Amino acid sequence: MIISGKELAAACKAEMAEEVKSFPAKYGRLPHLVVLLVGEDPGSVSYVTGKAKSADEVGIKNTTIRKPADISEEEVLKIIDELNADDTVDGILIQLPLPKHIDTDKVIARIRREKDVDGFHPLNVAGLWQKTECVLPCTPKGIMKLLKASGVGLQGRKAVVIGRSTIVGLPVAKLLLDQNATVTIAHSRTKDLAQVAREAEILVVAIGRPKFVTADMIGEGAVVIDVGVNRDPETGKLCGDVDFEPASKKASLITPVPGGVGPMTICCLIENTIEAFLKKVEK
Ligand code: NAP
Repeated sequence: MIISGKELAAACKAEMAEEVKSFPAKYGRLPHLVVLLVGEDPGSVSYVTGKAKSADEVGIKNTTIRKPADISEEEVLKIIDELNADDTVDGILIQLPLPKHIDTDKVIARIRREKDVDGFHPLNVAGLWQKTECVLPCTPKGIMKLLKASGVGLQGRKAVVIGRSTIVGLPVAKLLLDQNATVTIAHSRTKDLAQVAREAEILVVAIGRPKFVTADMIGEGAVVIDVGVNRDPETGKLCGDVDFEPASKKASLITPVPGGVGPMTICCLIENTIEAFLKKVEK
């Protein structure tokens, strides 16, 4: 019933750790991920800490550059230029959101596309939509791994994605389409959202509203992937966009929050870094 992203991510990380052990002898160094954290937003700090912990578990080198929230855009671009030029850096991740005075699109576009392990660079986004070589964004990639590992067939099946952000909703819809699912993308202006959602055989929810999707919005036996990370206003605990307990009685498979999509996102970040490293050293 419950798809454990935590368990799958642990297995993926253990596999990667085995592979990484051979790298120093084979290639003379380890893959290196650099994370730039601007400011001290508690959510961002906790995400960055989680990423560093996972990178340590897999045994790849990782560095977090911490800068104050009032750093100028020019200084951020300079840091990226230096990391781009550093041959020992394989992956660059800018922890989002950036402070408002910094143009996020400009910063992301400055990263060399092959070091963009988040898959947000315009050329990587284009690659996803044009089906050419690209770095896939971590959360959508992680969701596809979860579905595959759970044996969920996608061909010809009805998938509904609620949310159309460029980092989750749109790319996951494209990846589902590439697997021959029939995909509907719903959003805040969708009429009769509950009915649209109920028709889904595979329902992916990425909206950022605690427990928004209730059991009556879920078709009997649907596979439910909950991407949301929210604080429950009543308990203060982490919760998803789906009201988990009642929803799990309708769903055939469902991801929990925490322990579902989140760990797979981090796992894919490490995988993208290793892939970027291998592309470089095996050239
Ligand atoms: P976002 O950029 O804020 O996009 C939210 C999307 O949800 C928008 O497309 C919006 O529609 C739609 N939406 C909002 N309210 C809605 C409603 N009442 N009915 C239908 N659609 C609604 O969010 P995001 O970056 O995609 O993130 C979504 C959630 O996933 C957040 O909780 C975030 O923290 C979480 N997240 C988790 C991971 C992970 O690894 N677990 C990774 C990334 C994000 P419009 O376009 O019409 O405004």
